[in-house]
Amino acid sequence: MRPFLLFTLSVCLPAQQKQYPNLNATAWMQTSAEYVAATTQAYRAAERSMNDALADPNWTAAYEQGTDFRGLPPAVILDLDETVLDNSAFQARQVADELSYSDALWQAWVKEAKAGAIPGAVQFLNTALLKGVAPFYVTNRVCDAMNDDDATVKVLKAHRIPFSRERLLCKTGTSEKTERRKLVAAKYRVLLMVGDDFNDFTAAPTTVEKRADLAHFHQAMWGTKWFVIPNPTYGSWERAVGMAIADKLGKLERKQ
Ligand SMILES: [Mg+2]
Repeated sequence: MRPFLLFTLSVCLPAQQKQYPNLNATAWMQTSAEYVAATTQAYRAAERSMNDALADPNWTAAYEQGTDFRGLPPAVILDLDETVLDNSAFQARQVADELSYSDALWQAWVKEAKAGAIPGAVQFLNTALLKGVAPFYVTNRVCDAMNDDDATVKVLKAHRIPFSRERLLCKTGTSEKTERRKLVAAKYRVLLMVGDDFNDFTAAPTTVEKRADLAHFHQAMWGTKWFVIPNPTYGSWERAVGMAIADKLGKLERKQ
C-alpha cells in the first residue's frame, strides 16, 4: 500500500480502541469503594443471620441436610475463591498481558500463594469461631489440606483465616459441590452458606433463563441463609451467557 493511501486511511478511520474484556470488572473489584462496601455488607448481614440461626434449632441452610439435625453442632459453609480469597490480581495480569484464562496460568497463580482476603471475610470467620460455629471451606481448588507446604493452606494461614485441616474440602473429583456439602451436613447443622457462584449453594442449571428462574425459586434463601459475594470477573454465569464477546453482546437487552 502506498504511503499516501495509508496516511489517508489512518486519518479517516476512527481509532480502534483496544478491547480488554475483563478490564471494567477487574477495575471495579480492585479500585471501587463500592466493592469493599458490597462484600462488607454481605458478611455483616451473614453475621446477623448467624445469630438468628444459632437461636433456632430448626434452621438449616443446606438442602443436603438430613431430617434429624437439631442436635448437631453448628457450621457455616464458604467457598474460597472470590468469596474468602481475592484473586483479582490474577485477573489484572491477564488483562494487562492480554491473556485468556487457562488452567496452567491459574495453577501457577495458586502456587504463588499471593491471593488477598475479601473485605469482611476474616472478621466474619473469627466471629463464627468465637460463637462456636465451625467454618468449612468447599473449594474447587486442587489442594491438599494435610500438607503445610500446600499453597492454599499457606495463603489461608498468611491471612490468619480460621483453618483446620478436616474443614478444607478441596476438589478431588467433580467440581460439583453437592456431595461435599452432604459430608458437612451429615455431621453439622449448616447455619448459612457464602459464595460468589450459584453452584456454591445448589447445583445450578447452565442456561441464563433457567438460572434466573432458579434464583427466583430460591428467593427466600438470599440474604437470610445464602449470601452472595459479588464477582463480575468470571463464574458459571459467564459460561451460561457464552464466553465470546459476541455471545454477550447478543444477550444484552437493549429495549429497542
Ligand atoms: Mg468462588
